[in-house]
Amino acid sequence: MLQIVIGYPPIETTKGTPLLSQNRQFQYFNAPTYIYPMVPAYAATLLKDAGHKVYWMDGIAENKTLIEWEKELANVRPDYLIVETKAPVIKFHWKEIKNLKIQNPNLKIILVGDHITFNPLESFENCPVDYIVTGGDYDFVLKNLFDHITKKTKLEGGVYWRVSDKSIKQKPAAMNKLSPALKIGNSGPASLAHNLDELPFMDRDLTKWELYAYENGNYKYKPATYMYSGRDCWWNRCTFCVWDHTINPRGSYRSFSPERLFSEVKYVVDKYNVREIFDDAGTMFVGPKLKKFCELLIESGYNKKVVYGCNMRFNALTKDFYELMKKANFRFLLYGMESANQKTLDKLDKGIKVEDIKNGARIASQAGLEVHATVMLGYPWESYDDAKETIRLARECFDKGYFSSMQATIVISYPGTPLWKECKEKGLLKTENYEEYDMRKPVMKTPMTDSQILELTQELYSAFFTPKFIARKIMSIRNVDDIKFFAMAAKRLIAHLMDFDKEQKRGVLNPKFWMHSIKAMGSQLFSSANSKLPGREIKA
Ligand code: SF4
Repeated sequence: MLQIVIGYPPIETTKGTPLLSQNRQFQYFNAPTYIYPMVPAYAATLLKDAGHKVYWMDGIAENKTLIEWEKELANVRPDYLIVETKAPVIKFHWKEIKNLKIQNPNLKIILVGDHITFNPLESFENCPVDYIVTGGDYDFVLKNLFDHITKKTKLEGGVYWRVSDKSIKQKPAAMNKLSPALKIGNSGPASLAHNLDELPFMDRDLTKWELYAYENGNYKYKPATYMYSGRDCWWNRCTFCVWDHTINPRGSYRSFSPERLFSEVKYVVDKYNVREIFDDAGTMFVGPKLKKFCELLIESGYNKKVVYGCNMRFNALTKDFYELMKKANFRFLLYGMESANQKTLDKLDKGIKVEDIKNGARIASQAGLEVHATVMLGYPWESYDDAKETIRLARECFDKGYFSSMQATIVISYPGTPLWKECKEKGLLKTENYEEYDMRKPVMKTPMTDSQILELTQELYSAFFTPKFIARKIMSIRNVDDIKFFAMAAKRLIAHLMDFDKEQKRGVLNPKFWMHSIKAMGSQLFSSANSKLPGREIKA
């Protein structure tokens, strides 16, 4: 039996809480938000079921200092530590791996995640990491790696190791010589064909589910939890989407069967009394599978016990589906709007028309679902007027009651995405320092200044602030859950306005922050939702 830690070392920074795991666009949040890391949690479950002693040490969600977390690790004295990383924090992880190797000389360290899948060799050059497991099925492949180490079973594709490591008995499928003393072997392309229905139910006690049950803007009814019904998105194309071009590349999409998904939903509702579930598959399955899943919730009566939410696409469902989802007690649907400009949607390979945004949001909201749109600014080809048009459409959708909430971000070209490749080829990257890919400022050259983009992002966050939207929200308050939800939303809005303050003036006591925020909200309150820019008529 091996002692294995799955851990997130705390990242000590003034930037806020780092969002890893399913946060496909990495960001530090001023308002603490904890996303339940689904694949690491399935990995923990599989490894425990295989007979290993597994520890879950999420120092970020547990709000530990780095020293406290390191002490805990030293007390556990594990054989292996598994760390999920992303581009904006990989330099921190390289440094921390060096420290941990000094503190725990016998510890072996494994990196997983999107960035190392794109560039596995770079981490061997920059730190003494022992193994890298590429691809989005790293839960299955980690189990396979430990089976290989303990039982010499055949190693699946996707594992990288130092050939000097005697624990790996298999001949490499390919080898890279990084220096005369550093040869890296690998077991071939990432293994991405596992049957998700074979996963055991996630061990939510082992993985401390309550850490992720409260502080999350996707929840209204708490305690709540996450599901992950598919890997990752059946559309699988958007050129900025790092997960769908690295760990879950095109052609690798798989999902749970509706029956398997429903069984785990039933299990978590019965065992943990969760009141809401957010399904964080990149886009949830649609068609007959969605119909069946809704029917299972309705026929079993679990639609009276739990509220469901998921990621969806604006042009994926008809009115009948939305009505069925409402009956099954879906509440929160999260959509990638990205931009109100057709040329941007086309360049991103988003697969939607501008009119789909309004139509899809209208049908969903009229069925009683709450539409949350994610929107981005700072595309290299978008002008100030283009960005203003995106803000205008968001505002119109709030004003008409189609959107309930929104997340505004600056588009980042993560290494491994087609967008990054295009920017690199065209000389549009302002920096290749990964640490700057944390959404605090644009990393691509655009026709706008950084300060304009931050100011417009704040303005976009204020797009909901129309008299009609506010009146509608106040009228919709029915119970304590509604009041708590709006209080939390207000707190998060202030934090997001801070995230994108153009002078990065943070802190509720900072007068400059309030000046900038009031200006952004005032511009929405006193402008007309329908004042379209010339030549931008959109059919509803
Ligand atoms: S629809 Fe969403 S999850 Fe799917 S590829 Fe596009 S951005 Fe990624």
